[in-house]
Amino acid sequence: MWIANDISTLRDHRAKAHGRVALVPTMGALHDGHLSLIKRAHEIGHTVIVSLFVNPTQFAPHEDLEKYPRPFKEDVKKCLAAQVDGLFAPTVDAMYPPEVLSSEVNIPELAKELEGASRPTHFAGVCRVVAKLFNMVKPHAACFGSKDYQQLAVIRAMVEDLAFDIQIEACPTIREADGLAMSSRNVYLQEDERHHALGLSKALSEAQQMIQAGESDPLIVERAMQQVMTAHHVAVDYAVIRHAQTLRQLDSLNLQVTGSAVALVAGKVGNVRLIDNRVIDADG
Ligand code: AMP
Repeated sequence: MWIANDISTLRDHRAKAHGRVALVPTMGALHDGHLSLIKRAHEIGHTVIVSLFVNPTQFAPHEDLEKYPRPFKEDVKKCLAAQVDGLFAPTVDAMYPPEVLSSEVNIPELAKELEGASRPTHFAGVCRVVAKLFNMVKPHAACFGSKDYQQLAVIRAMVEDLAFDIQIEACPTIREADGLAMSSRNVYLQEDERHHALGLSKALSEAQQMIQAGESDPLIVERAMQQVMTAHHVAVDYAVIRHAQTLRQLDSLNLQVTGSAVALVAGKVGNVRLIDNRVIDADG
């Protein structure tokens, strides 16, 4: 497995890569969720490249950029075990050379709400770094987790609008045995907070049960999700039901008519901000 910390080294290796190249962009602190993306990348590509980069432009000044976990050696071992072909772990200066003027990439229509309401600069940072990674790595395909549902929608929109010739592969959310979605931020949770964090996945189960039992008013379902989260001491940021493709609000939850819906939740457990979601189909 090669490791590149700068773009010219990356390009040398990329030039020798064989077959279809599948990229898995990550911020490191790899867990089984990331490893499932790597597994999928092996299925859809011949060469698998993982990027490890804690991207400063997607963090707001008050967020956890400095203390974000960076267990580089363990990440390298996990990539070796997962038979990754190449690791691109650029320095901040390699990714954002100080002398280079910066461009803006964003999908304002999708990026302002939900995560974007709490984190106004977040998706512009995500779009910019993903666009740069696409231009640097030149993959045929890239794997993203459905855990970051809105991010996936934003990236799909960017790829379509900017005409990147790249297959975007959505991968399912990997969970702990009790339902907590795996996240690099779960390591911050204290013991009692780890239990409280289940409020997110339980709220999603509540929404699914209510909708499949015939509840058609999104506001009633959203209120029930909030109650479940609050009962678990989660400080609710949002708990909403949206159209699964467009993320638009729904007047009524008649899934036979609207197609799938998605329940999306975000909240803070202590100081740790967590997100989760579940797509809800008419047929369960
Ligand atoms: P991150 O390192 O948090 O930026 O995540 C890198 C990629 O892994 C993103 O596409 C995430 O959606 C995906 N990912 C994170 N957590 C999970 C999970 N629990 N299951 C599946 N994919 C995940």
